[in-house]
Amino acid sequence: MGCSKSRASVHWQRLKAACPATPVTRFAPSPTGYLHMGHLLSMAYVFAIADVAGAKVLLRFEDHDRQRCRKEYEQAILDDIAWLGFIPDNWPYVVRQSERGERYRQVMGQLRQEGYTYGCSCSRKDVAALEDQVGEELLYPGLCRDKGLEVKEGVGIRLRVAQGTERCIDLMQGAIEQVPAQQCGDFLLQDNRGNYTYNFAVVVDDLDQGVNLIIRGKDVMHCTGRQLQLGRFLGRQETPLFAHHSLIYDTTGMKLSKRSLSEGIIKRRLAGDAAADVLGEALWLGGLLEAPYPVKAHDIAAAFRFPNSFC
Ligand SMILES: [Zn+2]
Repeated sequence: MGCSKSRASVHWQRLKAACPATPVTRFAPSPTGYLHMGHLLSMAYVFAIADVAGAKVLLRFEDHDRQRCRKEYEQAILDDIAWLGFIPDNWPYVVRQSERGERYRQVMGQLRQEGYTYGCSCSRKDVAALEDQVGEELLYPGLCRDKGLEVKEGVGIRLRVAQGTERCIDLMQGAIEQVPAQQCGDFLLQDNRGNYTYNFAVVVDDLDQGVNLIIRGKDVMHCTGRQLQLGRFLGRQETPLFAHHSLIYDTTGMKLSKRSLSEGIIKRRLAGDAAADVLGEALWLGGLLEAPYPVKAHDIAAAFRFPNSFC
């Protein structure tokens, strides 16, 4: 009590208490489209928390979905980042998932050898048709678990998910507890077209890059438990610290159409708008500012009312 609560609801005290000794975080867009206001809000959270924590920020392109990613989007994202002034520590070097195929193959081989995976020939439709589906997610009931299917074209790879509760600390949501076996069951690491999945690639990347502070949108929060479990199977010793932030859609979804939210930043940049104006708008849309006044990238932590809101 007695402290002015930050509108961002980042629990800075929690950050102080749980922050790893050498914090490393990342901003990881998928070049499947242009950056929009939602990405900008996410970037603001990443750089504000990193600033307070003294964390390194790594840029990574999550382009594991080869069918949907394009080089032109990549270039636009790099240009947007430079224009905004949110310069990552590995700049201008970027980690690309599309360049990590060999590493992913190696990790997959290791998991397989240790008995953590199995081949699955079910289609998404097969799984969706099952009756015991609870919640919004597809719970895979392990149909192929004991079939010993050979992994070849048209066969996906699933993780044998263990029973039990996964726990971590979240700077915005408090303690997170999830039971992957009841949420998703044995989830896919590689789909039946040979694409590595988001869950697989992101865990391997974070492990390899020493990422121990994960700041991302609430829309992927449900994946946290399964990612923690996979990380542990891969030898991860320490549980990362998380911050799952709210999305623009949460606060302004009623006022703005999804389409206007997803309009590219590139349009504003090419129109000659000031980066600080666009950033201020994103913060306002995300509920962090009372009005869309301009904010410069290097002042981002102050926009989160740090350190006055330290409570
Ligand atoms: Zn199956």
